[in-house]
Amino acid sequence: MRRAWVSAVLAVVLLLSGGMSGAKSLRTVRFVPDGDTVVMENGQTVRLIGINAPEADTPRGPAEPFGEQAGAALRKMVQGRAVVLETDQQTTDRYGRFLACVILPDGTMANERMVRAGLAWCVYTAPNGKYTRRLLAAQRAAMDEKAGLWAVLPDLPGPFIGNRRSLRLHHPSCPFVGGMSKKNREMFPSLKPAFRQGYAPCEKCLHGRVMRSIEQNQGKKTGEKAEALFPDNRLVDGALAVIPLRTWPPR
Ligand SMILES: [Zn+2]
Repeated sequence: MRRAWVSAVLAVVLLLSGGMSGAKSLRTVRFVPDGDTVVMENGQTVRLIGINAPEADTPRGPAEPFGEQAGAALRKMVQGRAVVLETDQQTTDRYGRFLACVILPDGTMANERMVRAGLAWCVYTAPNGKYTRRLLAAQRAAMDEKAGLWAVLPDLPGPFIGNRRSLRLHHPSCPFVGGMSKKNREMFPSLKPAFRQGYAPCEKCLHGRVMRSIEQNQGKKTGEKAEALFPDNRLVDGALAVIPLRTWPPR
């Protein structure tokens, strides 16, 4: 039965691959270390394109909130299964990991399902934008439904500064803001409108704060005032002064 299924899918893949961009191949997932990474039978590590799931518990550090749930969800979806790996523009990242969309036997995309469940958010990594719109639509739906982490992520007050080219969102005090060209800057009054536009928090200045705010809100509905998360929220006047106001408010 499984053999028949595999040959059927393979035939379809071979049929389709001629006219489509991005190489495809059929492989079995051996294990799933976290919500955005899978390890294939041949030992190859695959990073799911376009999404970021909270970190699982590793020797490098404790799990981020929703890290264990994200890993468990992806494990349940793909572990031990034959999947199609669909590539985008780049096939490997700077850590040597294979970059792919993981397509399940039923034709759904694991990357998209993780975002739709609120267990990962969209992270655009140039130039891999084939499924950016589709992933963002899934994220907006998850946000509307308060699925997964969206149920407990407060709309942290900004302002925040987005880089239109990289789709990274920064705190005004981030050193990366200074090097950003004026035309690429987009201003956001708070966190969630930026997520709606497809921005992901900068690892350096914002990711940790977003994770802490989720942690603080978990288990207590009312939570602390979000402002308490930004004890050093002194705005850098220069950084804010050059933001073009025509982009306010966000679309
Ligand atoms: Zn930053």
